[in-house]
Amino acid sequence: MGPHRTIYLDAHATTPVDERVLAAMLPYFTERFGNAASKQHVYGWEAEAAVEGARTEIASLIGAPPREITFTSGATESINLALKGVAEGSNGGGREIVTVATEHRAVLDTCRTLERRGWTVRILPVDRHGRLSIEELAAALSERTLLVSVMLANNEIGTIQGLQAISSICSARGVLLHSDATQAVGNVPVDVNALGVDLMSFSAHKMYGPKGIGALYIRETTPRIRVQAQVDGGGHERGLRSGTANVPAAVGFGAAARIARSALPQEPARVRDLRDRFVRLVESTLGDVVINGHPDFRLPNNANITFPGAQADGLMMDMKDIAVSAGSACSSGAPEPSHVLRALGLAPELARATLRFGLGRLTTEADIVYAAERVADVVMKQRERRIAGVPA
Ligand SMILES: *Cc1c(COP(=O)(O)O)cnc(C)c1O
Repeated sequence: MGPHRTIYLDAHATTPVDERVLAAMLPYFTERFGNAASKQHVYGWEAEAAVEGARTEIASLIGAPPREITFTSGATESINLALKGVAEGSNGGGREIVTVATEHRAVLDTCRTLERRGWTVRILPVDRHGRLSIEELAAALSERTLLVSVMLANNEIGTIQGLQAISSICSARGVLLHSDATQAVGNVPVDVNALGVDLMSFSAHKMYGPKGIGALYIRETTPRIRVQAQVDGGGHERGLRSGTANVPAAVGFGAAARIARSALPQEPARVRDLRDRFVRLVESTLGDVVINGHPDFRLPNNANITFPGAQADGLMMDMKDIAVSAGSACSSGAPEPSHVLRALGLAPELARATLRFGLGRLTTEADIVYAAERVADVVMKQRERRIAGVPA
């Protein structure tokens, strides 16, 4: 490392494992290594109890009973299971799925696969703040619509969708609602009953748990929501997701959920204050910047800022001691500007002049002050070079 440690402002890509989470996990790699499906001895019982304890912690974080939680390998798998599983479980060939232009690739690409399998997919636009219009959604639903998928909080611009209103419309029209809540769970209060979602996907590594484990919430209703398993085998997770449970990861996810729940009363306000301070510092130094996303309905830890006249790639090269991203981690490296920013109506050159800042539990006031100075400095240098006619 250089003279400064690299300041991490990319919490939407991933978060570090909390040390308390790691401590809770460690025994399950070694002395408590049992298979949670071994019913005949204490190793198995111990592992099963640990997995069920974790399921209970995760369920309470979102206000659900434990039996409505299915473990997966992460939000991507949860989303695949939710969308493909509901589609295949419905015998509904030729029917329709409705989603939104700013969804994560995990949703959009899964929908594309379903389209190839004969489903109709409608992708709704958003307003310039990234919100779906309730009227537009209501107008898009038809007799053929089986499922709507709308994310709770966007991973690039932090916009929070009006899921309560969305779920009211869906349930009145007899349409199932899935939500990708990966950026919201653990960062803001999330209650599946208040939101009215039928299925919800989220992931441990976005909330200070380990990578490689996630959950799919499936509401228990009568009649039951039919979800066709996408991984067949020993019938684990009530037949929904076969394969030996990743016990240490489940334990870590459970610990992360418990810690998030205890931090939720105070942490969002702390992070929001730091984020607002950061944005004010950058704005006051540079003047000409655009803050993307909704001004009110947004994640407390997100700032997505366009720096007209600058190039995001060059900015990141010029400040390697600040870890941020342009667009989303999954698509960076690809030359196309972010589909989320394009959906807001940003011109390609402005989308390419945009950085995403993700604050987290470890972000301090000193980090924010230093990062704001560095950002303002590299943007001013780029703008000066442009004025002098030097290619960025
Ligand atoms: C990170 C993320 C995903 C993918 O989660 P994984 O657990 O890494 O598969 C999906 N949706 C959103 C909104 C995300 O931020």
